Amino acid sequence: MATLLAGRDLARRIEAEAKERASSFGDEPPGLAVVLVGNDPASRGYVRSKQKACARTGIDSRLVEMPADSTQQAVLDEIAALNSSGSVDAILCQLPLPYGISPAEVASAVDPDKDVDGFHPLNVGRLWRGEDCLLPCTPAGIMRLLSEYGVKPSGRRAVVLGRSTIVGKPMAALLLAADATVTVAHSRTPDLQSLCRSADILVSAAGVPGLIRGSWVREGAVVIDVGTTYVDGSPRGDVIFEDVEPVASHVTPVPGGVGPLTIAMLMSNTVRCRAGRGVRGSS
Ligand code: NAD
Repeated sequence: MATLLAGRDLARRIEAEAKERASSFGDEPPGLAVVLVGNDPASRGYVRSKQKACARTGIDSRLVEMPADSTQQAVLDEIAALNSSGSVDAILCQLPLPYGISPAEVASAVDPDKDVDGFHPLNVGRLWRGEDCLLPCTPAGIMRLLSEYGVKPSGRRAVVLGRSTIVGKPMAALLLAADATVTVAHSRTPDLQSLCRSADILVSAAGVPGLIRGSWVREGAVVIDVGTTYVDGSPRGDVIFEDVEPVASHVTPVPGGVGPLTIAMLMSNTVRCRAGRGVRGSS
């Protein structure tokens, strides 16, 4: 029987650490601005969860709502204003963005020191160079989870399903930095089953419910399920949990695994952005 990697429990501890650090800034607590463009109900739900986490942690949250038909320039102007705001330490733009607004342009517009999601090209470059930087929240949370449960990636074979900028690529970079031998798979990868079976550590971020069966997992592998797809109103992972659990050594549940960790790491990164700015100036 696999050990359950209880992301929710670790997330509580990370939030408690962030809260303690946030309180050290007294009457100038960390400030997180969230830009939400359009009316996607799932995005609204995610933003609400982030705001609640800010309230729990003593972080000031500011929501900037923009209509779905906003131009890219209007979004860039808003980000420029947040970059120069003295009370905003961290900025995130909720994805996905409406058609016509480039996520890459938006990520590049955020001040790299306020880039709480770690999506600015400077932070992406630092990550791949193995330098200290703001890390994307989901992969950073997964690395904390592995460490918490004593899973050492060094010398192990890791397979990451998915090559997005948000999850797959930074996950691969972090596992590589931790000395794993990493393969990144995606929708065009042939014979995914054999590849997955070769993994000591399997991270699935495909967003395809039920993709990973027990027969895809090597005996004793560590399985991290990032997938979160809403089916009939409930979140479903990529992994068929009951099929994989008897085979794996460690597995994350959905919900209660990676999701809460992502939000906790956002709180932690916001505090880090605040600390990096020291005494607040005008920018
Ligand atoms: P994305 O759509 O940008 O990327 C999905 C990736 O999976 C792509 O690289 C694609 O090539 C690959 N893929 C798709 N189908 C595949 C298949 N059948 N086999 C192999 N690879 C396949 O998505 P994303 O933003 O990276 O998110 C991935 C999943 O993780 C989604 O379900 C998303 O909701 C979830 N997610 C969860 C959290 C969290 O905190 N729990 C955070 C971010 C994303």
